[in-house]
Amino acid sequence: MSDGRYTVGVDIGGTKIAGGVVNDTGGVIARARADTPHRSTTPDVVENTIVSVVEELFAQVGKERVTAVGIGAAGFVAADRATVVFAPHLSWRDEPLQSRLVGRIGLPVTVDNDANASAWAEWRFGSARGEDRMVMVNLGTGIGGGIVLDGRVERGRFGIAGEFGHMQVVPNGLRCECGNRGCWEQYASGNALVREARSLISAGSPMAQDLVARIGGDAAALTGPLITAAAQDGDPTACELLSDVGRWLGIGLANLAAALDPGIFVIGGGVSAAADLLLDPAREAYRRQLPGRGYRPEARIMAAVLGNDAGVVGAADLARHHDGAAVTGVPSSALESAPALTAVVHESESRRSRLWWRRRHTG
Ligand SMILES: [Zn+2]
Repeated sequence: MSDGRYTVGVDIGGTKIAGGVVNDTGGVIARARADTPHRSTTPDVVENTIVSVVEELFAQVGKERVTAVGIGAAGFVAADRATVVFAPHLSWRDEPLQSRLVGRIGLPVTVDNDANASAWAEWRFGSARGEDRMVMVNLGTGIGGGIVLDGRVERGRFGIAGEFGHMQVVPNGLRCECGNRGCWEQYASGNALVREARSLISAGSPMAQDLVARIGGDAAALTGPLITAAAQDGDPTACELLSDVGRWLGIGLANLAAALDPGIFVIGGGVSAAADLLLDPAREAYRRQLPGRGYRPEARIMAAVLGNDAGVVGAADLARHHDGAAVTGVPSSALESAPALTAVVHESESRRSRLWWRRRHTG
């Protein structure tokens, strides 16, 4: 049962500012949205847009029923949860967003990274309920990430933990917009999926016939969801493209498991709509790549369940718990019936792993 008190969550993305009034069980009871102002506009314009979305929500439910406002923004948010250090889609540079909004909204305001908000939402109300340690990986145009450990978002010393997309997975690999080469998001994101499909199309490959027919020959019309739809309809090329992205996903997850050893990876973002067409190859690659494989427990790899609401719900719920106290996870009876990722370990692989493990720990 909801306690009847609401918080507002605002998710600031590259194209949309989405807001919602959220109750204490993660339900969204009112919504409002606006276009994200272009990055060439001043911080004031962005701030005005946020305030107008929040006021529209107050008008729908009554401001007196709302106790706090949480903002989730794509960008680097300082560990004080008040300042946006850098936002790639906006004009914010060291923007003191919290203090500017508090004065105008008249309620406590917290600011967080959007992927942290999504991770929190999935941990509280979604796929990761009941887990002490979870890692969320959002596959969009790039890769965003969030970590929840023992009821707290792990933000890092400077607030910018979880930027998994820029881990190097291929030395001297593809150039990334961050300036480096071989970043994970160049191989396991929506952009990577579309890039690979386009290269098949521009090479005139007969393999791309079905995709070409779907876009009417206009390569610019090719999108991740379109490739996913083709795969779901059984186009073998689209399946293969998703499977390639899935394999790269699994390799990166194995790296994260080596560092963080979570109980579950939750995969969200647009590409995750491909579900097992993406996640089965990821699980397989993960199992093959995992350090000490065959001789250790393995994290589950599950799709996110909150979809586009995760950012709004997470930002709102983080605002509800703005005192920073650790929060107890919502136990999930659904977890018992969730299909666990159970490793099928071949005998030879298992033996190899044991030798590896001994060599490392007794040598
Ligand atoms: Zn990069």
